[in-house]
Amino acid sequence: MAVWDDVVGQERVTAQLAAAARDADAIVVAESAAQAAGEQPPADRGGTSQMTHAWLFTGPPGAGRDTAARAFAAALQCVSPDSAGAGSSGPTPGCGFCDGCHTTLVGTHADVEIVRTDLLSIGVKETRDLVRRASLSPASGRWQVIVLEDADRLTEGAGNVLLKAVEEPAPRTVWLLCAPSIEDVLPTICSRCRHLTLRTPPVSAVADVLVRRDGIDPEAADRAARATQGHIDRARRLATDERARARRAAVLKLPLRIDDIGGCLKAAQELIDAAGEDAKQVAEEVDAKETEELRAALGAAAGTGGRLPRGTAGAMKELQDKQKRRSTRTQRDSLDLALVDLTGFYRDVLALQMGASVPLANDEVRDSIQRIAASSTPERTLRRIEAVIACREALDRNVAPLLAVEAMTAALRAG
Ligand SMILES: [Zn+2]
Repeated sequence: MAVWDDVVGQERVTAQLAAAARDADAIVVAESAAQAAGEQPPADRGGTSQMTHAWLFTGPPGAGRDTAARAFAAALQCVSPDSAGAGSSGPTPGCGFCDGCHTTLVGTHADVEIVRTDLLSIGVKETRDLVRRASLSPASGRWQVIVLEDADRLTEGAGNVLLKAVEEPAPRTVWLLCAPSIEDVLPTICSRCRHLTLRTPPVSAVADVLVRRDGIDPEAADRAARATQGHIDRARRLATDERARARRAAVLKLPLRIDDIGGCLKAAQELIDAAGEDAKQVAEEVDAKETEELRAALGAAAGTGGRLPRGTAGAMKELQDKQKRRSTRTQRDSLDLALVDLTGFYRDVLALQMGASVPLANDEVRDSIQRIAASSTPERTLRRIEAVIACREALDRNVAPLLAVEAMTAALRAG
């Protein structure tokens, strides 16, 4: 399966990347030929090359920014004789099978660094390390690729560090930055990048990839794709994870439970508790192991009650801070998912009220949707959708989560 098959419903972007990968291959071939002949490498890559050193992938959550960036990274490293080495007129690199493609996709290629963070921000120090890494010559003789999956989380200082690297890249270095939108990245960085916009993939394309790649049965795939409105990762999780389905079912009951102020407060508290549960589960899975590993690395002596050697408390404190930030981030993401589901519910209500003949995203709770639709007006529904959006924005501004959610449930009731 070619690396491009995972890039779902993005024909235009895929075509652009494939053209760039062909030109990138032609550059590698021409330069190594020149080197073998003892000549200077061709200096001018011409204004016609589709290849460039910095790319920015934007698009709504779940559209597959990271997947597109990884597919491109794999195509740049593809060494299949059938697809690579043929120059810009030949077939497209990215066979999916060769060593270059495979190791890139599983994350072990020596010249591909994939930076993914579960923290809220990427700081100056991490970025300096990356820039240093990016300046190395590729061991494979092809490209040094850095995929920064959360470029929107760069602090301003980190952004400025990155800017210098993007402005004056090493000859074989390629930066692939991903962010929700162009506004999330420093304008100075954007202007140095070629910009690709992914769209929300059609529901049918998402269902199709769940069946083809993940072996999910067609009916479940279709239901999950529709429920998540083209968000690929969420669709997969919903189709495969019992917990995710239970969480979603609970969220979709909320609109019928907020008849009085007591119900509003209770529903708000439950949303917050559920997000806290998610964070706790992640912490249980990761934190203890991480802490143990650090203790071992710092040389905590076994049998002495695990006392840490002098002068290592700082490192332990740093890890605890990191774990705390990750917990905050997990809670926030979990809560945001619930709010996305809630928005989908009211969008369905609106669709019924407007008599639109589209399939409902949340068909499994059609009864509730009909009840709310019959007991309110489109204007009220719009105000309710706005209340959910306002809550998401408040959370983005770091308003205390419980307060923001209580304000939302109260507004949903009054709506
Ligand atoms: Zn390949």
